[in-house]
Amino acid sequence: MTTVGILGGGQLARMLALSGAPLGLRLLVMDTVADACAGQFAPLLVGDYRDEVALAEFASRVDVATFDFENVPAESAEWLSARVPVFPNPRALAVAQDRLAEKTLFRELDIPVPEFAAVADRVGLDRALQAVGVPCILKTRRLGYDGKGQFRIRSHADADAAWAALGAQAGAVGLIVEAFVPFERELSVVAVRGRDGEFRTWPLTENWHVDGVLSASLAPAKVDAALAQTATTYARRLAERLDYVGVFALELFCRNGELLANELAPRVHNSGHWTIEGAETSQFQNHLRAVLGLPLGATAMRGRACMLNWIGAMPDAAAILGEPGGHWHDYGKEPRDGRKVGHATLRADDPQVLADILERVGRALGREAQCAPPVAALRDSGA
Ligand code: AMP
Repeated sequence: MTTVGILGGGQLARMLALSGAPLGLRLLVMDTVADACAGQFAPLLVGDYRDEVALAEFASRVDVATFDFENVPAESAEWLSARVPVFPNPRALAVAQDRLAEKTLFRELDIPVPEFAAVADRVGLDRALQAVGVPCILKTRRLGYDGKGQFRIRSHADADAAWAALGAQAGAVGLIVEAFVPFERELSVVAVRGRDGEFRTWPLTENWHVDGVLSASLAPAKVDAALAQTATTYARRLAERLDYVGVFALELFCRNGELLANELAPRVHNSGHWTIEGAETSQFQNHLRAVLGLPLGATAMRGRACMLNWIGAMPDAAAILGEPGGHWHDYGKEPRDGRKVGHATLRADDPQVLADILERVGRALGREAQCAPPVAALRDSGA
């Protein structure tokens, strides 16, 4: 029996474990904490990702390794890859870990990006503000996620405050300034590439964030076919250049009908959770198929799907479970401010029916504001 090792034991590993069960897989999850929520479903090895003794034990117990967490040190992934096949490869991981390397690669591949400049010190910040212009965002190059490690700069007068907030990290993780994009919409393309190079994408997803954290996703996004094709082409270019194996997400801003790349997530992605019930094959199942060298499943949608993230604490399940096409996902985590503790997916064939369901759910849970953007997009879809 094949054992897949997953570095990182959060909800992504948990959902990978659940989707791996029908394939008859065994899993081994490694995490730094003993209560990592994937440990409720798969054997858990607790250890530091830099600890070679722990990594050696992990390597000895798995046939292939992958990640639920992109900030596993690239050197640890490299060390591991000398002992066991690792997908995606450590080079892809290293690029995706560094906003500067990532944006430089996007440019090389003719994938449009917001203006950006690296920042090494306080004088460099002034130079970057001149080059990129304001408004812009100062971000840590590494270890940032969900809007963390970011400071919004509205005018040059904000430079001191931005430096006070993030300057201390210039040495260890590096900093980058990016132009602020007044986007109309945020989209993501979730894609998968197999060991044999077969490439597939799920339908484009529209995403809404609150305070930098994903709040809702709707698929398929209402975009013209040419824009969807462009997003797929960008994802394919990245996958081929990086010789990527597995699932990844490319996050995009849409402005004046054009796409700008924001970031590459080298793993299954929150904006692809709807694929569990909304697509023929989920991102989790296809990720496992890809890393194992199995044929990939179809990525076609079943109707329309909207995912709502539960942040901090779980709401009342009954409002979702009582809906036709309502699916509940509780990650088994302790409630904590800002923590992703679960999600729901609502599915329906007809966009207006899905909008009605979302309105009911919003009212029942007192979450009208969270449901309003996908409702508006569905009402606008005209079908
Ligand atoms: P990130 O961690 O870079 O994905 O950023 C989290 C969220 O912050 C994004 O999904 C956007 O909503 C917002 N954001 C990040 N970078 C920019 C930017 N350059 N312009 C406008 N909004 C941004």
